[in-house]
Amino acid sequence: MGALTGRTALVTGGSRGIGRAIAERLAADGATVAVHYGRSAAAADEVVEGIRAKGGTAFTVHAELGAEGDVATLWESFDRQVLEHATSTGLDILVNNAGVTPRGEIDETTAEAFEEAVTVNMRAPFFLTQQALKRLRDGGRIVNVSSGATRIALTDIIAYAMTKGAIDAFSLTLAKALGPRGITVNSVAPGIIDTDINASWLRGNEAAERSAAELSALGRVGRPEDVADVVAFLASDDARWVTGQVLDATGGSQL
Ligand code: NAD
Repeated sequence: MGALTGRTALVTGGSRGIGRAIAERLAADGATVAVHYGRSAAAADEVVEGIRAKGGTAFTVHAELGAEGDVATLWESFDRQVLEHATSTGLDILVNNAGVTPRGEIDETTAEAFEEAVTVNMRAPFFLTQQALKRLRDGGRIVNVSSGATRIALTDIIAYAMTKGAIDAFSLTLAKALGPRGITVNSVAPGIIDTDINASWLRGNEAAERSAAELSALGRVGRPEDVADVVAFLASDDARWVTGQVLDATGGSQL
């Protein structure tokens, strides 16, 4: 029996990077995991196959986040597959992980890039959660993946930082609203993690890797598992008395 046996989780952006590590960790803890993806069905299938190969239970759900019709289809697909795979219907853990990081100082940020960040990082988690609440059982968990960029001023991701600040406000307010149902809501704020989102400026660039590592008190760049383990804690019974918080997972980058 794992810590999450009998629970069902949905992880957005679960086909790669931090979301993939979260999906794999929650499944390893015994949860049935719905792996959401936007464009890469093959990558999501691979995550599900990997989980099943280790004896876990998982299935994929698709939605281009921001497209209302797609999100409705996602929940129909979720409801149908939960009946096939899980021991009961409904949802216990929602992880709003999918995100985009438009890069640019304030004078370089286009309206298009800004809108995409608002759509994927703010609007999608809001309305996805609204629908999730119809399925989320009392005592459930919502974990929103925010960013250390709300407290470390990185001027070249200013629009991104703004949307992630909004997610933290969402976690705080929703925690109060859902407290009477025993549902906890928290943000996890990663620092620089080696994923595709950072590939263009980080990978293979020794100077960038060094300065990213030096930003953390622990002297290295983060790994997806560093974040997934924190999400698993917040999703577990051990975190039952933690709600409305932003948990830093930056390796001490703001120290
Ligand atoms: P990633 O680019 O590897 O993964 C992002 C995921 O979001 C992908 O699965 C992608 O398909 C999905 N996604 C993006 N736009 C979508 C859309 N319109 N519709 C459906 N899915 C969409 O990045 P990651 O590093 O794994 O990031 C995961 C989360 O962690 C993001 O919210 C990101 O802001 C946050 N974060 C990352 C870092 C970092 O350094 N990597 C630091 C702080 C916070």
